[in-house]
Amino acid sequence: MWLSGMTRPDYRTLNWFRGKRLKPHFDEIFTQIVILLSEQGFVSLKVQYVDGTKLESCANKYTFVWRGSVEKNDAKLKVRVAALLAKIEKDNNLSSDEMPSPEDIYNSQGDYYVCPMGQHMEKVRDEIRISDGGYRSLVSVYRAKNCEGCPLRSMCHKSKSNRQIEVNHQLNFYRREARELLTSEEGLVRRSRRPIEPEAVFGQLKANGMFRRMRLRGMTGVSLEFGLKAMAHNIKKMAQKVS
Ligand code: SF4
Repeated sequence: MWLSGMTRPDYRTLNWFRGKRLKPHFDEIFTQIVILLSEQGFVSLKVQYVDGTKLESCANKYTFVWRGSVEKNDAKLKVRVAALLAKIEKDNNLSSDEMPSPEDIYNSQGDYYVCPMGQHMEKVRDEIRISDGGYRSLVSVYRAKNCEGCPLRSMCHKSKSNRQIEVNHQLNFYRREARELLTSEEGLVRRSRRPIEPEAVFGQLKANGMFRRMRLRGMTGVSLEFGLKAMAHNIKKMAQKVS
């Protein structure tokens, strides 16, 4: 208001400024503010928390309630649900039949697994998998040589041929590392601060700031709107501390 000589800008002016002038430079401005806060000792960039929250989108909440919409979307929804169920089933099968069990022992030098009966499961191939989100991962496939007549077979796997397992070594490494960090002394202290550090920010924004619903649509609009809220939150905190 002071910048505009105390004239109240029209909402169209604000919207135009936000969409046309601010959007291309927003990330840079946001980064500069974080650097400023860090330099002045208001925030530490040594520890970063990742947390999630849900905010209602700008979409009409009654879209799927009206009969016309329900009928129109019914067929599409059924196809999507069927695809989702098939995927869940596939993932479940993967986790129960194709993953190493806790009884399997991995020999990293020889790059093979030893099954509960002492048989070596040698690597047969590596595969590149690309997830729905475009993430590439390397999966190694190991196979037992002969499961015929094994007394543990019914408990071990459901495959008609020899047992085969799939392992993502990089993912296992990250999981081990994350578990060690989370259960370390420092990890326990950091975790105990979650309600104060990240969760309190969402509480401030959503409950005290009454920010429960997005007004802009699309990924760019949502990023911009939430980014502005986060930026305002940071500046507000800084102003409270210096006043
Ligand atoms: S079924 Fe095959 S993989 Fe499983 S314990 Fe027996 S020999 Fe090993």
